[in-house]
Amino acid sequence: MNTGYVWHELYGWWDMGSGGLAPADPRMGLQPLAHWAHPDTKRRLHELVAVSGIIESLTRISPRKATEEELLRVHLPEHVHRIQRESDAPKGGDAGDGNSPFGAGGYEIARLSAGGAIALVEAVVQGKVDNGYAVINPPGHHARSDHGMGFCVFNNVAVATRHVQRELGVGRVAVVDWDVHHGNGTQQIFWEDPSVLTISIHQERCFPTDSGFVEESGAGRGEGFALNVPLAPGSGHGAYLYAMSQVIVPALRAFKPELIIVASGLDAGIHDPLARQLATSETFAAMTRQILDVAGDVCGGKVAILQEGGYSPHYVPFCGAAIIAELAGIEPLFDPYLAVTAGSRGFDLEPHQRREIDQIVDETRSRYPG
Ligand code: ZN
Repeated sequence: MNTGYVWHELYGWWDMGSGGLAPADPRMGLQPLAHWAHPDTKRRLHELVAVSGIIESLTRISPRKATEEELLRVHLPEHVHRIQRESDAPKGGDAGDGNSPFGAGGYEIARLSAGGAIALVEAVVQGKVDNGYAVINPPGHHARSDHGMGFCVFNNVAVATRHVQRELGVGRVAVVDWDVHHGNGTQQIFWEDPSVLTISIHQERCFPTDSGFVEESGAGRGEGFALNVPLAPGSGHGAYLYAMSQVIVPALRAFKPELIIVASGLDAGIHDPLARQLATSETFAAMTRQILDVAGDVCGGKVAILQEGGYSPHYVPFCGAAIIAELAGIEPLFDPYLAVTAGSRGFDLEPHQRREIDQIVDETRSRYPG
């Protein structure tokens, strides 16, 4: 496979300050510590791809900065201009929810992240590569049209989708979001749009806690073009693959997209601090195989995978590398962390998980878009 790959050093310079979700404050007993979303996690993924030699099998694609016009296809001017203004302030600003700080010059990096998404998706659509992975940062799937949130500033997936629809004549796009948190921003942006099927598989009521329910299915002309697969905490390899095969793959086959974009958060990984799921690098590789198989049948294998969240600096690199190796059709990297959790309960499909997923099938199958 000719697999495209995007990374830029500036993605590793995204500054979220210290203190995680609660800023350091000794009066509250909160000590300074690297933010959950410290960019080193993404940089370590890139460096594993490089040091392991996987990168030799990939086609490097240079990102560019998304233009203001490209951002305005999915975001309101007030949002884009506020980020621009705060980015010029000496200490930067916040994406929009008070928990998503960024440093001075953040606007430029956020544009480079959205532009990295554009560059990869464009290369896949134009056939310059067969498929590809973009390790972009900051992430985007929580960013709504009017404000950012959840560490996301601009919705990279949405910006790239609109780009190929407007500039390259692509019609139907499916977005499969396997970040462990709900892809609420992407869903909101395409809520009434039947040309984009948004699918999110996530931990139920993890973040945001008030969205991502099975009942949410789009509105107006977009009714039936949003699909949510909320999984109980503690879902692992078996539950994820079962949900993919029973719900997501059939929906993709019914929709027949011309392109599949995966919003690839790696925070369903078993060692992630911001969720409670049990996926391993093997889970991510197997889900990638499922996506490639259906893409081979419906859209000539056109798959672009864009980085979203992922907060374990130890484990994110191995999960990302497993996906990239699967895309490129090369030997998977040895994952030393598999031995750490081997034999634990939770990897196989549990009866209660099967029941819940079967119930999602019952509730959603009648409204799969065709
Ligand atoms: Zn996430």
